[in-house]
Amino acid sequence: MTGEQAAGVRGLLIDGERVPAADGRTFTVVDPSCGTPVAEVSRAASADVDRAVAAARTALVSPEWAGMRAADRGRLLGRIAAEIRAQGEALARLESLDVGKPLREARADVEAAARYFEFYAGAADKPAGTTIPLGPGLLDYTVREPIGVSGQIIPFNYPLQNTARGAAPALAAGCTVVLKPSPEAPLSPLEIGRIAVECGLPWGVLNVVPGYGEDAGAALAGHPGIDQVTFTGSVATGVKVAQAAAANVVPSVVELGGKSPVVVFADADFDRALAAVAGSAFGNAGQTCSAGTRLLLQRGAEEFLDLLVKHAEALRLGPGLSDPDMGPLVSARQRDRVEQYLALAREEGAVVRTGGGRPADPALAGGYFIEPTVLTGLTNDARTAREEIFGPVITVLEFDDADEALEIANDSPYGLSSYVWTRDVDRAMRLATGIRAGQVYVNATGVGTGVELPFGGYKHSGWGREKGMESLASYTQVKNVCLGFASGGDHALPAARP
Ligand code: NAD
Repeated sequence: MTGEQAAGVRGLLIDGERVPAADGRTFTVVDPSCGTPVAEVSRAASADVDRAVAAARTALVSPEWAGMRAADRGRLLGRIAAEIRAQGEALARLESLDVGKPLREARADVEAAARYFEFYAGAADKPAGTTIPLGPGLLDYTVREPIGVSGQIIPFNYPLQNTARGAAPALAAGCTVVLKPSPEAPLSPLEIGRIAVECGLPWGVLNVVPGYGEDAGAALAGHPGIDQVTFTGSVATGVKVAQAAAANVVPSVVELGGKSPVVVFADADFDRALAAVAGSAFGNAGQTCSAGTRLLLQRGAEEFLDLLVKHAEALRLGPGLSDPDMGPLVSARQRDRVEQYLALAREEGAVVRTGGGRPADPALAGGYFIEPTVLTGLTNDARTAREEIFGPVITVLEFDDADEALEIANDSPYGLSSYVWTRDVDRAMRLATGIRAGQVYVNATGVGTGVELPFGGYKHSGWGREKGMESLASYTQVKNVCLGFASGGDHALPAARP
């Protein structure tokens, strides 16, 4: 790859080249485990988004891309998947350094990113049209065409996975992409862009422009040169992005927040449920949209709560690269936000069963750590129990029977994920049918797995679906072709014979 850039600054990826921002501005990326600067990155603004969109528009109709057979697009994506795996350890270390997640989790994210490219490599030549029987003299068929340039805006919590989750299906469908990572997590998306170009992806097909939401993000969401928007992030930003897209009559997929219920009945397999509940709520330091952070516990299952508290207290916190049980939050901003919620919880009458603030260990004082926290004594009306905290905090609510569990589970503005733990199949089916959420896991957990499964939200958790074959629908549009030709005549409907 070529392109001028200031020494040590990671440039934007536009039209196959690493380039500085037009205004020369940069921002600093810090290691959240200690607050030390680790990289300087070019900061995209609207002029850079203009350049990236122009490159993507040109690439969209270029013979190298538009003329490539679907099967060859698939092969190219397969090559990218293999290269992500080949460079996996370096990518995992970079991800861990950038966002603070334990190396073990970062390695799993590398594998998930490779899986996205692999899955959509196989999907590239699958979207087929239909023929519609109109009768003699007419041939009617549909084709699925790439929707065009996809503008993708992603959050900080799973930069590797979210880059692959949006880019891979878009490329499989024949689209081109301008992707804006979060300024809190720009390093691995730039690396995926580099790998894609080095694997032979034509220049301009995938552009990566890290920058801030209010300038680069807003410029991309409302850009007249894009044909589709995929946004992942908070509800408040998602509303703005969807409005900006709608103003250009451009469709959007918005994957937003959650406060997902985990319903644990007294008859559940506590060992399996415990590992899943703790993994979901404390994995990635609780910064997971689908995390089960609202624990609905059946009265009589108090032993489960004791086990959970004990489990949380045993978790070892530390810098991501040392592969602890739990790393820091991504930024001081995010830590402060979680601390504000913990203060609110106390005002709302919460009982802090464990955690509740920063760890006492002086070795962790420079990082953005929050202890794994379990709160009881709240009702579902409390803001702490209703709003997304996006940190390692579980709020526990109690219920008596399946009806009450369902009522509490659905009493939420969100509808992203949900989890049910019981050995009673009727009860499990009652909840799986009744819960209003994009995904229900029964005696299973879905965080960080399942590129094959459609994923998205009900209610304020968003609309549209990513992952699985459903994702391709966002990146294609249907054209109907009706062809008339001379044939054996036009047969009218025979008259009814009463
Ligand atoms: P955020 O909404 O603050 O930012 C998300 C992205 O939008 C960032 O790249 C940001 O720079 C950009 N942005 C900010 N303002 C913008 C604007 N006005 N116009 C365009 N872009 C703008 O979210 P965050 O704090 O980075 O991430 C946390 C949120 O993401 C949580 O709510 C979490 O639930 C959600 N999330 C959802 C999913 C999902 O699949 N449903 C996955 C991961 C994270």
